Amino acid sequence: MCGIVGVVGTTDAPSILLEGLKRLEYRGYDSAGIAIVGTDGQKVVKEKGKIRNLEAAIDWDAMAGTCGIAHTRWATHGAPNQINAHPHQAGKVALVHNGIIENYAALKVQLGKKGHKFLSETDSEVLTHLVEDFYEGDLVHAVQKALGVVEGAFGIAVTHADEPDLIVGARRGSPLVVGVGDGVNYLGSDVAAIMAHTRQVIYLDDGEMVILRPEGINTINIRNEAVTKEIQEITWDLGQIQKGGYEHFMLKEIFEQPQTIRDSFRGRILAESGDAKLGGIQLTDWELRNIRRIIILACGTSWHAGLVGEYLLEEYAHIPVEV
Ligand code: GLU
Repeated sequence: MCGIVGVVGTTDAPSILLEGLKRLEYRGYDSAGIAIVGTDGQKVVKEKGKIRNLEAAIDWDAMAGTCGIAHTRWATHGAPNQINAHPHQAGKVALVHNGIIENYAALKVQLGKKGHKFLSETDSEVLTHLVEDFYEGDLVHAVQKALGVVEGAFGIAVTHADEPDLIVGARRGSPLVVGVGDGVNYLGSDVAAIMAHTRQVIYLDDGEMVILRPEGINTINIRNEAVTKEIQEITWDLGQIQKGGYEHFMLKEIFEQPQTIRDSFRGRILAESGDAKLGGIQLTDWELRNIRRIIILACGTSWHAGLVGEYLLEEYAHIPVEV
């Protein structure tokens, strides 16, 4: 599963973000990226594969700044590659997104007609352009307007180069937690990402937003109404949090299976249109119909999963499969 980290109010922002991403590594991801809003604009670095690839690609001097957002992606729309990795940028807006934007295709057409140019295949980049399209000097309002138009699930964190001490977060269907610090505030999709820095957290609910600035945080909803939230104290340690209250990881993973399966279907099995969308597999109907043999290459757990795939593919597609 994918992850979000955000921090505002410290010159350590780049290293805090990177360390936060590493805390989320245990959830699995295919690429990672970071955006820092500095005094001379916004810088984005993103890489396919492991966080260490991202770390190696960062020019730390160029990444100086006190506010930033970071992401580990688990692709639903578009191949797992560097261009599709988050943060996405549109003009001066940078955005990271967990989840799926269901009406992204229609929005992409509308925005395209207005002159927006897209680089990636993702639904998330469309949301980024939508925010930019609504931007009139106030990022909070632009995000609210954009979220009023999108359908689907999201946890997002958004920054703007002209508002360097601000992160706007929002959620619907994807978790987001705020870490309350002293002059520094944090955002994460998982408490593990931020709890090394603060134990005071606010769990956002669906439809809620957070405005993070160094001097404080403000919780509102998408309709711009104030929302009063309770600050909770984390009493667990990091190991316990990563184990989600289970005694050990294997038990946790067993109980997580339904959610893991739901997450991996998300955006891929399109129940409404009776279709499946697999990022990276771009075969025509003709090519699909002419497949004579399938080889699944895998190792370890994925080899076991591949054996199940062999049975399913042979049964439903009547094509010989070897693992
Ligand atoms: N749907 C988005 C994408 O494919 C976000 C995936 C995620 O949740 O990491 O880029």
